Amino acid sequence: MQALVLKRISKSFGGIVAVDKVDLTVMTGENRALIGPNGAGKSTLFNLVTGELSLDEGRILLFGKDITHEPVRKRIDSQLGRTYQTSNLFRQLTVQENLFLASWHTWGKKASIAATLFRAWQKFRNQRRHIAEIAHRVGLENKLDIVVDELSHGEHRQLELGITLAHEPRILLLDEPMAGLSVAERRFMTDLIMSLKSEITVVIIEHDIDVAFSIADRVSVLHHGAIIAEGAPEQIEANPKVQEIYTLSRHS
Ligand code: ADP
Ligand code: MG
Repeated sequence: MQALVLKRISKSFGGIVAVDKVDLTVMTGENRALIGPNGAGKSTLFNLVTGELSLDEGRILLFGKDITHEPVRKRIDSQLGRTYQTSNLFRQLTVQENLFLASWHTWGKKASIAATLFRAWQKFRNQRRHIAEIAHRVGLENKLDIVVDELSHGEHRQLELGITLAHEPRILLLDEPMAGLSVAERRFMTDLIMSLKSEITVVIIEHDIDVAFSIADRVSVLHHGAIIAEGAPEQIEANPKVQEIYTLSRHS
């Protein structure tokens, strides 16, 4: 089954074509890496998929459903998850409280507040278990009562991923989740992302080519807003066009 299909999507900012008629298909359960030099249009592409930016042309299908004109909230309800910057965390609350708030929406969307609270009370125990599981998964099981402000940068990123997982996405867009992490933290995050496979389709923008190639089943290369190569990691590694771009961007 196709998890995400982009059909000739484009986005310009003034005179700059940030995303240029991109076609992309990601299958359910796949780990796809999106690589390319700075300014290639990777983050813009994610913003188009989440609906944070509106596209100029093209269509977007999520699990077979056309979401081209749906607002961000609806896309998230359609089980699209995305990691955000650290500022999205409630820094004065604990890890547990942050995860608790993130899982709130699964407590019932349409009920009145009183009914929601009652249901929340009933589900309290289940939620606690769910939160403990997520915390364990992202390596924060021993930090549940720690205030977020006191966590390391790496732990913030782990919590952001945990918060996104609490929404139970079927597809996850990760924009440079390893940025600023230590070697040990990178290894932990890589293993964590690998462990999501089969349940969750992952599209990851990753600066470190080795990390991208180790996580991905397939790699798509973006350059000046267009996909210039796509294939298995070893094909991409051997692709002269890709080698040229990366050599050039290293020297610029
Ligand atoms: P990447 O994530 O691959 O580094 P981006 O998607 O952030 O690239 O940017 C692609 C191009 O679009 C760049 O030239 C960038 O300057 C431009 N761009 C991105 N967002 C905006 C914006 N909100 N307004 C104007 N230009 C933007
Ligand atoms: Mg970016």
